[in-house]
Amino acid sequence: MSETLPSAAIIGGSIGGLAAGICLHQIGCRADIYERSARDLSGRGAGIVVQPQLSRLVRGIAGQHLPLTSCMTRRQIDAVTGSHSDVVMPQQFTSWEAIVQAIKGAFPAECYHRGKTLTGFEQSEGSVTLEFGDERSVADLAVFADGSGSYGRRRFDPDLTPEYAGYIAWRGTVAEADLPNDLQAFFHDRFTFTAAKDGGHALCYFIPGDEWRTAIGSRRLNWVWYETVEAGADLNHLLMDRDGVQQKRSITAGMLADLPKTYLVQRAQDKLDPWFQQLIELTEDPFIQAIEDLAVGTMAHNRVCLLGDAAFVVRPHTAGATAKASGDAMALADAIGRRPDNVSEALRAYEAARLPAGRSMSHLGLSLGKNSVKTR
Ligand SMILES: Cc1cc2nc3c(=O)[nH]c(=O)nc-3n(C[C@H](O)[C@H](O)[C@H](O)COP(=O)(O)OP(=O)(O)OC[C@H]3O[C@@H](n4cnc5c(N)ncnc54)[C@H](O)[C@@H]3O)c2cc1C
Repeated sequence: MSETLPSAAIIGGSIGGLAAGICLHQIGCRADIYERSARDLSGRGAGIVVQPQLSRLVRGIAGQHLPLTSCMTRRQIDAVTGSHSDVVMPQQFTSWEAIVQAIKGAFPAECYHRGKTLTGFEQSEGSVTLEFGDERSVADLAVFADGSGSYGRRRFDPDLTPEYAGYIAWRGTVAEADLPNDLQAFFHDRFTFTAAKDGGHALCYFIPGDEWRTAIGSRRLNWVWYETVEAGADLNHLLMDRDGVQQKRSITAGMLADLPKTYLVQRAQDKLDPWFQQLIELTEDPFIQAIEDLAVGTMAHNRVCLLGDAAFVVRPHTAGATAKASGDAMALADAIGRRPDNVSEALRAYEAARLPAGRSMSHLGLSLGKNSVKTR
């Protein structure tokens, strides 16, 4: 590591944090990642629609090829008549885990610290001191890649919180080997959409399966159903996990309580076409993500910056959150590389490069959501 380059402490070790760590290491900075989860984050993600920019970024960041599945056509099922139409529209897909797997080998394991929850930080003229319970760590700059509930963002902008968009995404995956033949054949080689009878829509596509295998027969079928749910009692009921803990934003796979699971299957029977009903019934561990919006006005605060979902939470219709986080990471390393002697100036340049990208993806997500899901 170069002594003339600043050292970085990165809070959060998901895609944004890992990408930042790799990019900063590549220019010669010492970078340490502090991740609150003590366990490997694997086993918790689902499907991602790949924009060409994402595979290029993964190749650029980690020199790795992403495991990809693909299809040739987009299929639209009419929810009322059950008829369907296909148009040729090639698309590639991957999974959150496949991205993490592709990039994590490019970051030194000894600099990735698990089970470290940031509990406080202070900036001084020449450094940032970070607290993890009783432990302390000092770096020249701190990067908050700690997701939508970001500790760092709350410190600078306590009144800015993610705003519920009025609908949720039910999500799940089923191993291809567990699909009945007719269901497999219906969804194979297609990105399939259906409108729900009361508004909202569902979609599904194949993603890499266990050990990121992409051969036919070893993939997983990933589905998402956007459903309007009013804030308050209705939403809280769904977000009460199986241990009786009230969650705010999501229920992870394996934590959905029995009642919401029964409700999901019943609602699917009322609102979705039979192909999606079957798929949802076959799903062992469905999970929930409440759709939220958040956009900061400032990404750089002297020696501290925000990156990825900590700065902008964009709607999943954009299929762009992972590419945005990776783009932030590349821009950060570029800015530090240009002004290694002046961290706060480098972070201002990073902000100037990435605020417009966050804003435009945020606007795109709002308009896609407005056009595709009716909220009350
Ligand atoms: C386990 C997991 C699975 C996901 N699966 C999908 C998916 O299937 N499809 C999809 O589109 N998106 C998924 N996402 C979200 C996706 O990663 C983000 O939308 C996007 O890639 C930007 O990532 P990020 O690194 O900025 O934020 P996030 O991915 O939200 O990561 C934030 C990280 O910060 C850590 N953290 C939070 N607070 C602290 C703290 N105080 N101290 C230390 N660490 C902290 C969290 O544990 C987390 O690992 C997933 C995220 C996670 C964490």
